Amino acid sequence: MNVAVNSSQLNQQAEQHFDILIVGAGISGINAAYHLKDQCKDKTFAMLEVQDSFGGTWHTHKYPGIRSDSDLYTFGYKWKPWSGPPIAKADEILKYLGESLDENDLQQHIRFSHQVKSAEWSTENKCWTLGVSVGGSDELQTFTCNFLWMCQGYYRHSEGYTPDFPGSENFKGEIIHPQTWPEDLDYKGKKVVVIGSGATAATLIPSMADDCEHITMLQRSPTYFAARPNKNELVDTLRQLEVSDEWIHEIARKQVLAEQKKVTHRSFEDPDGLKKDLLGAAKMFLGDDFDVDKHFTPSYRPWRQRLAFVPDGDMFKAIRSGNASVVTDTIDTFTEAGIKLKSGEELEADIIITATGFNMSILGDIEFIIDDEKLDFGKTWAHRGILFSGIPNMAWVFGYLRTSWTMRSDLVSDFVCRLLNHMDEKGVNMVTPHLREKDKSMPELPFVDPENFNAGYLLRDMDKMPIQGDRQPWVFSQDYYAEKTEIPEADLEDGTLIYK
Ligand SMILES: Cc1cc2nc3c(=O)[nH]c(=O)nc-3n(C[C@H](O)[C@H](O)[C@H](O)COP(=O)(O)OP(=O)(O)OC[C@H]3O[C@@H](n4cnc5c(N)ncnc54)[C@H](O)[C@@H]3O)c2cc1C
Repeated sequence: MNVAVNSSQLNQQAEQHFDILIVGAGISGINAAYHLKDQCKDKTFAMLEVQDSFGGTWHTHKYPGIRSDSDLYTFGYKWKPWSGPPIAKADEILKYLGESLDENDLQQHIRFSHQVKSAEWSTENKCWTLGVSVGGSDELQTFTCNFLWMCQGYYRHSEGYTPDFPGSENFKGEIIHPQTWPEDLDYKGKKVVVIGSGATAATLIPSMADDCEHITMLQRSPTYFAARPNKNELVDTLRQLEVSDEWIHEIARKQVLAEQKKVTHRSFEDPDGLKKDLLGAAKMFLGDDFDVDKHFTPSYRPWRQRLAFVPDGDMFKAIRSGNASVVTDTIDTFTEAGIKLKSGEELEADIIITATGFNMSILGDIEFIIDDEKLDFGKTWAHRGILFSGIPNMAWVFGYLRTSWTMRSDLVSDFVCRLLNHMDEKGVNMVTPHLREKDKSMPELPFVDPENFNAGYLLRDMDKMPIQGDRQPWVFSQDYYAEKTEIPEADLEDGTLIYK
């Protein structure tokens, strides 16, 4: 791909023009940078990151116990072995990411405290112009690039989602969203209620239970949890046999993926059997007198949301100890002293934590203009969920929601590098996905099928997300086992990609 901005622009901005600009230095941005360095050796690139450090999710979240809910063999990169226990804390993930940057000399490519505010594509110049706020300044600096690689994740880091709870203004204690956790919060000896029962609540409960007077997980409806030991026996055996870290990593990835495939298959073929097994594990920790049916038996099919892994059953153990409890009920109103429930019961609280999820951030809240026209992202068709119809030279890493996110970040990174190299071979510098005549009658389907995955943050904003069709390359299946061959073999000359 050739540089195609005009030379006067280039002279003015020599240091700010790159072949590729990556937005975000989280797991996906670092992976993109690694792949560019490895597979597109002649390309210049930089990562623009609004935070003052790398790691994205793992840098911005500070709540007690913050950890992954999937294993690090698959959540880690295929190119850097993971040597710790399967589930990792944020600081361990950040250490791993820091090593990934240092070992590959990638730190020099990151511009921290750089927030991309606008992105304007010019077909005339075959170039993106980004307006970037540096260090929070209102005056925007200009960066240009030929290809824009969006690795900004999918949710707004600056604030979480909190529904409007009636009476919340009356509550005399503190209301905290886990995404904006005050690091000096003192919860010792306090009564705490956590609203929600996702992976965040499952992390908070055991991490805080010993210090609080009591901690209650208040849920409207139950969630599935998979309680397992936080160790991998196969990995331990291979390590004893002095097998190399690289081999162990590769074997563990294959093992985890094979097991997950079985679980996914079972969730469709034998949902009742799978449900029984998951609840059986909960019962084992909680004891026969605990009402597992009421508090841990969801109405949906297992696997319609990511199965939250509870390492060593720690959340169940906290409940069993009596320091934590779970209440399944609906909030009537917040009161001065806590929460009144529809059942009439009242939960006293000094601190209420709203573990109620994310707000989607569509394309990093960046204003996109394509040749003077404001982009309506919700009207674009997703090309394998990576490129988008009518948007030239732009890719987005949207990972897997059930399998580890990074497994898709790997596939997308390989795909983008292959596309960039293909463009070079063709001697072109612009690629735009478009619908072939035969694609124009496709039904407009949601970006993520709610039957397949029903997380609230996605359902709330699905209309702002791209649409998918019913045939390749317009399908975004969220199925690693299909995409692991489909994406590497994708035909770049199937008539859906227009090159100039
Ligand atoms: C608490 C928590 C736990 C999770 N655990 C798992 C798990 O175990 N397994 C799993 O698969 N997934 C998990 N996820 C999902 C997780 O977000 C992803 O897996 C992964 O970390 C996403 O990486 P990313 O780099 O794509 O995005 P992010 O981590 O969101 O990073 C994006 C980066 O882009 C930056 N950015 C955004 N907009 C702009 C802009 N306009 N200008 C400049 N920079 C910008 C952000 O500051 C951020 O640093 C978890 C999510 C959360 C919140």
